[in-house]
Amino acid sequence: MSVIGIDFGNESCYIAVAKAGGIETIANDYSLRGTPSCVAFSPKNRILGVAAKNQMVTNMKNTVFGFKRLLGRKFSDPLVQKELKHFPFKVEPRADGGIGIRVNYLGEDNVFSPEQITAMLFTKLKDVATTALQTQINDCVISVPSYFTNAERNALLNAAAIAGLNVLRLFNETTATALTYGIYKQDLPAPEEKPRNVVFVDFGHSSLQVSACAFNKGKLRVLATASDSQCGGRDIDSALAEYFCQDFITRYKLDPKKNQRAYQRLLQEVEKLKKQMSANSTRLPLNIECFMEERDVSGDMQRSQMEQICADTFTKVERTLRAILHNAKLRPEDISSVEIVGGSTRIPAVKGLIEQVFGKHASTTLNQDESVSRGCALQCAMLSPAVRVREFSVTDVQPYAVRLAWDAARGEDGDMEVFPAFHAAPFSKMLTFYRKEPFTVSAYYSDQVPFPDTFIGQWHIKDVQPTAEGESQKVKLKVRVNIHGIITVASASLVEKKQDAAQNDNVEMENSNENVNNSQEAPMETNGSQEQPQNGPDNQEVREDEMKGEPQQKQSWTQRVGQWFSGDKSKEKSKKVLVKTVELPIEARTHGYSQQELNSYMEQEGKMQAQDRQEKERADARNALEEYVYELRGKLSEGETLHDFVAEDQRHKLVNQLDALEQWLYDEGEDQNRQVYSDKLTELRTEGEPIKQRRLEYELRPGALDDLSLAV
Ligand code: ATP
Ligand code: MG
Repeated sequence: MSVIGIDFGNESCYIAVAKAGGIETIANDYSLRGTPSCVAFSPKNRILGVAAKNQMVTNMKNTVFGFKRLLGRKFSDPLVQKELKHFPFKVEPRADGGIGIRVNYLGEDNVFSPEQITAMLFTKLKDVATTALQTQINDCVISVPSYFTNAERNALLNAAAIAGLNVLRLFNETTATALTYGIYKQDLPAPEEKPRNVVFVDFGHSSLQVSACAFNKGKLRVLATASDSQCGGRDIDSALAEYFCQDFITRYKLDPKKNQRAYQRLLQEVEKLKKQMSANSTRLPLNIECFMEERDVSGDMQRSQMEQICADTFTKVERTLRAILHNAKLRPEDISSVEIVGGSTRIPAVKGLIEQVFGKHASTTLNQDESVSRGCALQCAMLSPAVRVREFSVTDVQPYAVRLAWDAARGEDGDMEVFPAFHAAPFSKMLTFYRKEPFTVSAYYSDQVPFPDTFIGQWHIKDVQPTAEGESQKVKLKVRVNIHGIITVASASLVEKKQDAAQNDNVEMENSNENVNNSQEAPMETNGSQEQPQNGPDNQEVREDEMKGEPQQKQSWTQRVGQWFSGDKSKEKSKKVLVKTVELPIEARTHGYSQQELNSYMEQEGKMQAQDRQEKERADARNALEEYVYELRGKLSEGETLHDFVAEDQRHKLVNQLDALEQWLYDEGEDQNRQVYSDKLTELRTEGEPIKQRRLEYELRPGALDDLSLAV
């Protein structure tokens, strides 16, 4: 059982494996370390990764890319609408408002969800890893942009599930990079010393992510993140493409935008030019042969010109770099280094901006392409029992403020911020409600988020009834940012107070620390402060020592407590109360597929895999036959090894037969099923093998090779 880390990028994916000897990157079937995030469809099979990208220009309508940005979004989302403009493939709304990608597969129209397409890419990555490691792959850690929301994270988990991957953690990309940095640094300050602050900048294909982390020996704490999901290398490509479109219209009267295929080629060419400009400040040429209307086009550009054309993108980069200082409350002099990763940080202008904002050179300690996947593999090893690695504690953050709203028992609706932005994650909080009947809470992101759909989830707490005396029951909700960065109501329990000592098995001490590591318990009252004095909870249970959160958090809770409970707290501290807790059923409505939907997608994926396998076997059988035909015919020709080991007329007959077979392979034999090819091969071998055998026997005779003076 291997543990792997996957960097699922907008443009390409990397896979790393944790082994006893260290972390290694796994190369794919083309011996490349990066696998394009590209999935294509043909009348016979699916084409995944490198092969998909290679055939993109000739199969544009059925080659899907850029789908990471579609995960968890609605078709009507303005961002999706913006993306659609760039896609040569067809995207349409589904009945539930979700996104459907329409392609021609096996000669028929098929509509797949972004989750399914992502799952297809994941099955490819799984396959690459399984082949390279010669072992079963299940456990993995997958990277996720730090700015991904609940909906996007759930969609990614669904995709992994469809691909049969067991995700131990969705790991924020910049945090993965930070872990890769931290684990190899030998000189981090001791735990009690002042931490070292490092900023990580990941500028990739379609997004920019920055984080600030505080390091001590054996641990890292993310202080804050800043990101722009709408700023990446591809924005530079499209600005450059736009420039050349205008240029070609003027000089050649050709408009590449009128021809998807030409436009895609232009994009590929300007990307190459962009990369050359990173290394070279002189004027560089752009030549495309047979571009449109069978005409060649050419142009040129210089780095300084590119910087002008893409000024918007660089302004956004600068804004995000400045945002991290603000979000993490750091001054440039508090930061010991700025580490850069991601393909687009190779652009000199980006390094220049980093120097300008932080007053120091961008540092390239890390492998720019592989730090994310390596960090994921490290994290996977730490979470899995399969491999032992040095422990390194990671405290992440969740980027948006989260509010919880509830319908109040007496008509007053309530609403509070349960996690502020950049609150530590994973993390649990206990909230206490006093209720006589079932009730509903819902969570949503606060207003200040850069996406339209702020809904996180709604949870209906069932089976709540008044006490025998007709009083409210105490219900505790555990609200959690889980290990994937997903916000949920993890549990709800009824708490029955017992003052006497005669208890059953369910009894536990209210004040025992049931929460692990990062969790925190905090009290909450939802009936409104006015009601509080009469039928509120026992003051005894409000204990300040239950509050173990961040200082900032603690303060806000204390204030609330002060508002609600004005009783004498000094008395409460010493008294312990025995309680019995009963788990309550919760009905959740949140993002992601139901188990039933997942099962059906898994089944569909299984069928497609079987189809791909079958097609591969068919193609392999055809290739085997073709190869045998060429090999045998070659060896039978004048002066070759088998020429003299078969009678003249038989040889003629056989060569004719081989010529006919070759013809057939390109004709009606192009598209037969596997059995047809293997039957033909078997038949052919009955002719060919005896000849080879005669040659072999001849060679094995003592001194035979001297006679023949032929190389074997
Ligand atoms: P994301 O992080 O946005 O999900 P990704 O991880 O797939 O995407 P990377 O592989 O980090 O992205 O970066 C790919 C981008 O970097 C592409 O836009 C590519 O053109 C750009 N890039 C790669 N090398 C260079 C270079 N030498 N100069 C300029 N840009 C480059
Ligand atoms: Mg990336």
